[in-house]
Amino acid sequence: MAVFWSVEVRSGGRSAGQGEATGVSDRVRNVDRVTGQLGFDNMPQKLVRVTPAKLSTWTDCPRRYRMAYLDRPTPARGGAWAHNTLGAVVHNALRALFDLPAAERTPEAAAALVTRYWKSDGFRDGDQAARYRERARDWVADYVAEIDPTADPIGLERWVSAPTARIVAEGRVDRIDQRDGELVIVDYKTGRHALTVDDARGSQALALYALAARRTLRRRCRRVELHHLPTGTVAAWEHTDESLARHVARAEQAAEELGLATDTLAAGGDPDVLFPASPGRHCSWCDFRRGCAEGRAAAPDLEPWAMLAP
Ligand code: SF4
Repeated sequence: MAVFWSVEVRSGGRSAGQGEATGVSDRVRNVDRVTGQLGFDNMPQKLVRVTPAKLSTWTDCPRRYRMAYLDRPTPARGGAWAHNTLGAVVHNALRALFDLPAAERTPEAAAALVTRYWKSDGFRDGDQAARYRERARDWVADYVAEIDPTADPIGLERWVSAPTARIVAEGRVDRIDQRDGELVIVDYKTGRHALTVDDARGSQALALYALAARRTLRRRCRRVELHHLPTGTVAAWEHTDESLARHVARAEQAAEELGLATDTLAAGGDPDVLFPASPGRHCSWCDFRRGCAEGRAAAPDLEPWAMLAP
């Protein structure tokens, strides 16, 4: 079945700072209090190297950040999630597709690459895995039928990096296109829900990728796109310098908090004060819930396949 890719795009500058996670101010106060006790006030600040994944983990739950990035040995994680397996397969297939000569980038080749990279980790059983494998083959085949697959991307899973006044923002971009002389950030999505313009506008990851791509590839980059394979839709946003600056300011604030908390922990601070649990619905799919009583109390266990696109 053909999927017609609808593109939503707006440009301009609504505030990107809306919807900041609750609890950040409390955490800043906690960190300030402990760093003050340890005599870290007024020390010169180093640039903190951050990825969007680290920033969002910190913002969602500082305890989860500590368990994922600081605790050694790393606490045991839960098992594989089927939706993550599916997402990785689709990403691998699309990356491999663009590695083929342009004339061979057909819908059939894309579907075959899904089969080549398929894994069944996290699925309920072989029948469910086979059903989703066929759906993923259809998703990528329909996707390739609707785009110009002969246009060579500037980057595939390309690592980009940019310093700001207070951080080094870096990360790996699914795909970087060049259109009309400008770079375009493309992020593939395979989750349950279609994405909106607001998702593209509010994505700190996409904004930092745009900034880092500008710096790394030395070309103009304003446009960011979320390509949602299950629904065949694209949500796009064109950043202004002002909207990028707002994202950078939020990233710098989060990076400062997590950098201070990390340094203070290393100097003997209390991990539960510096990295408090932030329980909520998201605890259902936290990889570390096994070792987190607050998280287990806050949200129910989910089956590993519960977050697959319907
Ligand atoms: S289970 Fe919830 S509260 Fe616990 S670490 Fe994970 S996200 Fe944080």
